[in-house]
Amino acid sequence: MTLSFDPDRISLPIGHLIGDRLIPAEGVIPMRRPSDGKAYADCPVAGEDLVDHAVQSAKAALKDSNWGGIRPRERLKVLHRWADLIEQEAPELARLEALSSTRPVGHLVEGDIAVSAEQIRFFAEFADKEGSDLVPTDDGNLGMIMTEPYGVVGAITPWNFPVSMAAWKLGPALAAGNAVVLKPSEITPFSTIRLAELALRAGLPVGLINVVLGDGPVTGTAITGHPDISKVSFTGSTRAGSAIMENIARTGIKPMTLELGGKSPQLVFADADLGKTAAAIAAGIMSNAGQACVAGSRLIVEETAAAPLVEAIVARMKIVAAAPTWDGAAQYSPIISDRQQDRIHSIVSAAVEAGGECLAGGMPMEGPGYFYRPTLIAGIDRNSPAITEEIFGPVLTLQTFRDEEEALALADHPTYGLAAGLFTRDLSRAIRLTRRLQAGTVWVNRYNRSRDHILPTGGYKQSGIGKDLGREAYHANRKSKSVLISL
Ligand code: NAD
Repeated sequence: MTLSFDPDRISLPIGHLIGDRLIPAEGVIPMRRPSDGKAYADCPVAGEDLVDHAVQSAKAALKDSNWGGIRPRERLKVLHRWADLIEQEAPELARLEALSSTRPVGHLVEGDIAVSAEQIRFFAEFADKEGSDLVPTDDGNLGMIMTEPYGVVGAITPWNFPVSMAAWKLGPALAAGNAVVLKPSEITPFSTIRLAELALRAGLPVGLINVVLGDGPVTGTAITGHPDISKVSFTGSTRAGSAIMENIARTGIKPMTLELGGKSPQLVFADADLGKTAAAIAAGIMSNAGQACVAGSRLIVEETAAAPLVEAIVARMKIVAAAPTWDGAAQYSPIISDRQQDRIHSIVSAAVEAGGECLAGGMPMEGPGYFYRPTLIAGIDRNSPAITEEIFGPVLTLQTFRDEEEALALADHPTYGLAAGLFTRDLSRAIRLTRRLQAGTVWVNRYNRSRDHILPTGGYKQSGIGKDLGREAYHANRKSKSVLISL
């Protein structure tokens, strides 16, 4: 299937989707295509009134459809139909996604979109398989833990994997019997709107998903502070997560799931298969041009293996080519904006000025668009911002160690603990170190997740609170009630 398309001939669904109506609104945030920098649309910003309209739509839908109270298998059936439609409409979704985001169109149909459909099915299956538990009591009592949906969940997603992030939020919330008011990133809203429209076509009761467009400070704040939103599910930066916690503390306490930033280490021991390790590490930082929460951005390698490993990684970094996301052959992603491209370059330049050496990359690629060369920097201090800050670009730093203790000390980050990679053929060492790594996910002899939705994902430290995916994500969308009946 060839997926290349003309970006100027695409019809964009712009507006807030409330109930089954796409409400047009004046666009105020200019949007530029990362692949060529061309301005192509303006994103509207929903204020408190519109967010309230969306929340009331969700509440009415819950009441009218009894979504949380119907036979759970009915929820499952609707979500399965939705997943089927997502697969059928994947080429169209892929075009919308590729246009505004950094995802090459060729990676989407079989990648992000197929996986999202599978994830929705995965969560649908919980609807009629996970329920209340009886608990052991003496025979004069019956003890029970009942679970119930929260009601209206407020979900906020980032721009880096728009369809996937929306599926991570919508799948478990809807399967668990909730309605959702979702705000996609103001940079990449289109595929999320289409995703929600497909849910309506699949027979989801009108109003169970409402998509409001806008920025964080106005629309996001109106969602997290709304008194009728009973739970917040957020994915984005640690900075925004912190602002959300503050707003929730100020406006009324409610549960929240926060999936935040990372600065993940890749620990390589000399006994690892260095060829396979180099491939995993290069992909771990080059995938989506490093614009992934779990980007493996700190290479920490045993001194004796550094030279051959670096050579193999650099060889892979040099073969990338810039092509627009709408070119079906494109493999490498642009940076989301010129501002972010400048930020990446200023961190890299500061590292070089401080004595670092770029073994690969170190500069933007020639235009059009905002591409940045895959970069490997060696010889920098462990307190350098290149090593401490989440860069969100294709920048890998190099540090070496002599023994396990030093490796662990370098891997430990004061703020983040999202993921870690560990490469060794020694199984005992792998398990020993996995136990000590401060990260929500540890990949051994591989890097990044694939279709293993059963494994929850989330961070230690300031990388987050709670989990997406896995059984945990379903349960995070239900609250429990303890019941004790005297017999
Ligand atoms: P961001 O925090 O700037 O924005 C994310 C979303 O939050 C957007 O929709 C934005 O409009 C909204 N937002 C911003 N400020 C807000 C506020 N005060 N209140 C409510 N909403 C607010 O992040 P981004 O640049 O879109 O995405 C990149 C970040 O997301 C990185 O830090 C990355 O690590 C993180 N991320 C984490 C995961 C994970 O699973 N842990 C997955 C993907 C991305």
